[in-house]
Amino acid sequence: MMEGIYLLLGSNLGDKKNMLEQARKLISHEIGTIIKASALYETAAWGKEDQPSFYNQVVEVKSTLSAADILSQIQKIETDLGRVRLEKWGSRVIDIDILYYHDAVINDENLSVPHPGIPDRKFTLEPLVEIAPNYIHPVLKVSNQELLIKCSDSLDVKRID
Ligand code: ATP
Ligand code: CA
Ligand code: CA
Repeated sequence: MMEGIYLLLGSNLGDKKNMLEQARKLISHEIGTIIKASALYETAAWGKEDQPSFYNQVVEVKSTLSAADILSQIQKIETDLGRVRLEKWGSRVIDIDILYYHDAVINDENLSVPHPGIPDRKFTLEPLVEIAPNYIHPVLKVSNQELLIKCSDSLDVKRID
């Protein structure tokens, strides 16, 4: 079985770097130990482009929680950090998505794992490839590295030091 739980963090409002740091702190308290973290990456907003750029980061966590319980914790963390749900793909102080939960394939009404956006989003694939290049997508059966090579997303993703 492919091991590993991977989360994508994103922010495009306020002190974005600090928001990601707060999110990592709450993730390690409420979900589990962060065993790997990518650098931060800056990307022009995706889907809805008339808004500030995003900072994104991928982390690997070690957790005994189920995927559904991780989703509940994520929603709590987003609310605690002041996320207000306004419009789909609108600006937000914090967004946390479950990318992979081991090799689980989940298609529930409120939870899709692997996250369906992975193959189409360079802002997800770049940080993911940094920390898990050889991880095999359990549905598409190709590595993150191969997904990035095939990805046709044209938005520029810039690594921040
Ligand atoms: P996208 O999912 O396309 O990146 P988004 O992150 O902006 O869009 P949200 O408004 O944050 O979307 O989330 C909408 C709902 O998506 C959540 O309430 C949650 O139930 C659902 N969802 C489904 N699959 C996942 C997943 N893998 N990780 C996080 N949320 C998910
Ligand atoms: Ca998202
Ligand atoms: Ca989300």
